[in-house]
Amino acid sequence: MYATVVLNLPPIQGTFDYHIPDANLNRVTIGSLVTVPFGNRTVQGIVINTPSSPAVEDTKPIDSLLDPDPVLTTHQIDLALWMAQEYRSAPSECLALMLPPGVRQRADYLYHLLDSTVDAKSATESRLISLLVKRGDLRGRQISRALPHQNWKRAANSLIRRHALERQPVLDAPKVGPKRVRNARLIIPPHELQKNPPSFGRPGTKAWERRAKIVEMLIKEGEPINISWLYAETAGTRADLRFLEEREVIALSEAEVWRDPIEEIDFVPTQAPPLTKDQLRVWSQLQAPLEGASIGEPSPPFVLHGVTGSGKTEIYMRAVEATIRRGRSAILLVPEIALTPQTIRRFLARFPGQLGLSHSQLSPGERYDTWRRCRAGKINLMIGPRSALFLPLDKIGLIILDESHDDSYKESERSPRYQTRDVAIQYSSLLDAMCILGSATPDVVTMHRAAGETYQHLEMPHRILGHVERVKTQSQRLGVKAKYVARDGEASEIELPPVRVVDMRHELRAGNRSLFSRPLLSALTETLEHQEQAILYLNRRGSSTYVFCRDCGWVAKCPRCDNPLVFHHNADRLMCHHCGYQTGSRHDCPECGGNRVRYFGAGTKRIVNDIQEKFPSARILRWDRDATRRKGAHDVLLANFAAHKADVLVGTQMISKGLDIPLVTLVGVISADVGLNLPDYRASERVFQILTQVAGRAGRGLLGGRVIIQTYQPDHYVIKAASKHDYAGFYQDEILFRKELKYPPYSRLARLIWSAPSREAARAMTERMAKTLRRRIQRMDTQAELIGPAPCFIERIRGNYRWQIVIRATIPANILPDELAEGWQVDIDPVSLL
Ligand code: ADP
Ligand code: ZN
Ligand code: ZN
Repeated sequence: MYATVVLNLPPIQGTFDYHIPDANLNRVTIGSLVTVPFGNRTVQGIVINTPSSPAVEDTKPIDSLLDPDPVLTTHQIDLALWMAQEYRSAPSECLALMLPPGVRQRADYLYHLLDSTVDAKSATESRLISLLVKRGDLRGRQISRALPHQNWKRAANSLIRRHALERQPVLDAPKVGPKRVRNARLIIPPHELQKNPPSFGRPGTKAWERRAKIVEMLIKEGEPINISWLYAETAGTRADLRFLEEREVIALSEAEVWRDPIEEIDFVPTQAPPLTKDQLRVWSQLQAPLEGASIGEPSPPFVLHGVTGSGKTEIYMRAVEATIRRGRSAILLVPEIALTPQTIRRFLARFPGQLGLSHSQLSPGERYDTWRRCRAGKINLMIGPRSALFLPLDKIGLIILDESHDDSYKESERSPRYQTRDVAIQYSSLLDAMCILGSATPDVVTMHRAAGETYQHLEMPHRILGHVERVKTQSQRLGVKAKYVARDGEASEIELPPVRVVDMRHELRAGNRSLFSRPLLSALTETLEHQEQAILYLNRRGSSTYVFCRDCGWVAKCPRCDNPLVFHHNADRLMCHHCGYQTGSRHDCPECGGNRVRYFGAGTKRIVNDIQEKFPSARILRWDRDATRRKGAHDVLLANFAAHKADVLVGTQMISKGLDIPLVTLVGVISADVGLNLPDYRASERVFQILTQVAGRAGRGLLGGRVIIQTYQPDHYVIKAASKHDYAGFYQDEILFRKELKYPPYSRLARLIWSAPSREAARAMTERMAKTLRRRIQRMDTQAELIGPAPCFIERIRGNYRWQIVIRATIPANILPDELAEGWQVDIDPVSLL
């Protein structure tokens, strides 16, 4: 009888009850997309509940139902409402993540003229009538465009009252409607055609030949044929088709087709290999919970912690297969689909015809189709970035996050600012589904939970080379002799590549001022001589922001909070982004008295140039944001590099993901320190993850490999741990640091940002908020603390100054005032304080 509706108007937070008019009674349900009256407007909303009695006495009726099927499942609604609470955002913003594209616009009306002979009472009325006579039914927005600056709505209302006009609410979706292909088919049976051949025009002409050929082909195929194919096969034209259509030999029809983003990716089907010892152990731990999930028995989230190349992907595939076999579907989330083409090919090969892909480069139409295919239950496995979690798959039984430590799993840009890991875990518990977080370098918070009881820890410490067969074919194809010998019938293990740490201070003392150390240059020379490949990695994040001594490695830090100071070019000053401390820039070192204090900075271009100068005949490929802006660029670059069309790949963060190229025997890290010296509590963790991932690109093939890390801080615990592939060692140091400074997992953070056109305004607003928060903390007597107010790391964005406050507490959301003025950016569990 009643429906509780969340309005599709983000600033409006609450829910509203309406009654369901009889006509729609049995179709309006939880998840329905409806229009409702609100104030003097009609707005879109989602039904999230159907209570038997309303929260208010006087309810208005639901206006209309915009889609006969619910657009959201009850589980999606539950998840969205949980997110709204957890991340302090509007329910409508959370629901919007799950709605198909095109649905989120304001509802509109379609106007239909009932009586074109009605007497017009005003000039506007007569203009509206003749417009509708001329163009047929129109939407409100179309009328506004045709009759600008006129109050046509009043005229329309008056005509409606006189029963000359009617209107119906409509969804504004045509822009992303499904793709249509026109088909041609015969409408005369073939035997009739033979008995009674129709005229194809003047016999002997070219046109006659073409038309005869079209009919011949339609007879041969015996089913409707896509007209582009007909054109291609018969040289026929549109005019020929129209000729045959007019004579009622053929009919042209529009058929809806699914836009399938996978169509263009090729693959070869493959069989599952027998599992290795590590994999068998992990698989046996997963089987009971998989079984349990299928009968609604919840299991804790699993952390699949395996070094790069340990066979995690194979475990994912087994789990997906088992899930599908039990009649449920699976979601595999990956950081960025364009960067993982090899993984996707493997899934395509194992699950042909059952898989959907979603990614940021899909057109709105493709996106819409993907959504519809999911809702229609046509997809068993969905692969995509974090947004794929919100597609309406049927009976979800498994959610996997590959590279679960990756920062792209955190939405930081807009509300709701959610952490996909936590949302996926919450979702799987709502769904009685299983959740697997896979990574070679789990984030510290996840690892802490896995070390305790919250998550279950699964380990795969060995790297797999592959089977005898694979090794044989690979060595033949590459024309190389394998460094490793596989035993019959078994997948062989290989060691992780040795890592050499080069102290750049020594290089400088020895008179080498270039970006490349002597060990790196000689390794590169050898690699190129052997016709093998190298990857050079450059961390862009944080370059040219911190100031350090090239002689001794000293880094300028805040005397109050020990955070690296940030160099501001324009002001020529050093600034602490935690407490606001400032000091003049300097060129002499307080530690060693040297005068080579510099800020660090180098881009991929500079590295490419320098390498080219030193190795004129080397073929160098640059892989950074600039080089990969075009759709499909990643795939092309990767394919070319894999085909050995380049010798050296120079890249940023992006190359750390998913690459598996057998000829890569050298990975060089230009400067491991960049990023370590960022004023952020996760700086160390991030650098460790990246160094480990990058090092994991070397030596995956038959030839083995090595890694060279250049640094000014060889004694830093992150560098030391990364050089030994020692995750456990890193974790031990890092968790102590977190405990000491009460950072996550020993607390949770919330970050509040205010931006304003002037620094003074931004500061004043955050000061005022800090005062409120301090009062609340005192009253609530919690252990909570504030950091700041201080300017954000990037203080000015698009002309606005940004200041922030960080709350550190057990549940920071509780410290926040119940009502926040519009304009506050709230980020619960931020992954970065920069
Ligand atoms: P990860 O996902 O942990 O990086 P992958 O699943 O990609 O590891 O496995 C690394 C390599 O080992 C791949 O080339 C894969 O084909 C191969 N591999 C994985 N499992 C097996 C197995 N059971 N037998 C043989 N080769 C395997
Ligand atoms: Zn010094
Ligand atoms: Zn400070």
